[in-house]
Amino acid sequence: NTLNQGLSELKGDINVSFEFFPPSTPEMEKTLWKSVRRLEPLNPKFVSVTYGANSGVRDRTHSVIERIQQETKLTAAPHLTLIDACDDDLKLIAAQYWSSGVKDIVALRGDVPAGEASPQRYAADLVSLLRSVADFDISVAAYPETHPEAKNAQSDLINLKRKVDAGANRAITQFFFDIETYLRFRDRCVATGIEAEIVPGILPVTNFTQLKRFANQTNVTLPNWLHQQFSGLENDAETRQLVGANVAIDMVKVLAREGVKDFHFYTLNRAELTYAICHTLGVRGEA
Ligand code: FAD
Repeated sequence: NTLNQGLSELKGDINVSFEFFPPSTPEMEKTLWKSVRRLEPLNPKFVSVTYGANSGVRDRTHSVIERIQQETKLTAAPHLTLIDACDDDLKLIAAQYWSSGVKDIVALRGDVPAGEASPQRYAADLVSLLRSVADFDISVAAYPETHPEAKNAQSDLINLKRKVDAGANRAITQFFFDIETYLRFRDRCVATGIEAEIVPGILPVTNFTQLKRFANQTNVTLPNWLHQQFSGLENDAETRQLVGANVAIDMVKVLAREGVKDFHFYTLNRAELTYAICHTLGVRGEA
């Protein structure tokens, strides 16, 4: 059938990366490390750890990164934001990361706290700063449906080009559900002269109520078909899990057929769905 066409030739061709966030309770901590261990044999290109978005202080990102380095074979990539740090601090953090063996960074501006004026510093500035410190592998953020603060889609795209021209190695997209939106965005990146890979950020959905909140904050469209898929499952976590896996598996199959070779997964610190999706892409643990 067409959904599965070409998938058998994919094996070995696909690169994946996984995103985690620092846990805030002992229970969540257990879940995180179980997930890291479960996903480790899939040999991701890197695993990234968010900063601030879900938790708070930089130290928490730091200690998760450190433990990944010490206890696993994974390449750990901290997220770093410039919103609450001056350039000297950022240079120091970058130098410390580099000397502790961290060579991969996800460079972001960070969200402006509610009520504060937008700072006139952008992620492109952080990319330049990191490049001035060491030869990091740098990922930046991209927005197929346009960043909420951008003047328009074109200026947002030019900002992405600025980040890549400043030295970013790849862009990871905000999550999305309409594949056409991603594909059109990828085409527009190419037309704008952005040569870096535009890696789709895949969010396996298990909690649709929470997703509606995320999507609202981030300008991401939830198509009608997705609402329909989850409707009536508010009190049925088990079925939501199966439906969520099915939705994401269909998405990655289409993306793979469209030539996408790199996938980034917003794991939300859970392994089950991400593992299953990777499996269908031919990304398998070592025997
Ligand atoms: P930028 O690329 O700097 O863009 C921010 C806005 O400014 C855009 O609207 C852009 O169009 C506009 N802009 C850029 N340059 C200019 C200019 N010169 N003049 C005028 N406007 C300009 N947040 C966290 O706090 N912690 C995380 O760990 C985290 N991880 C993320 C991971 C991914 C993959 C993604 C997609 C997002 C993540 N975020 C995280 C969210 C991110 O910090 C926010 O979306 C933030 O509001 C923008 O960050 P950015 O790096 O895209 O900013």
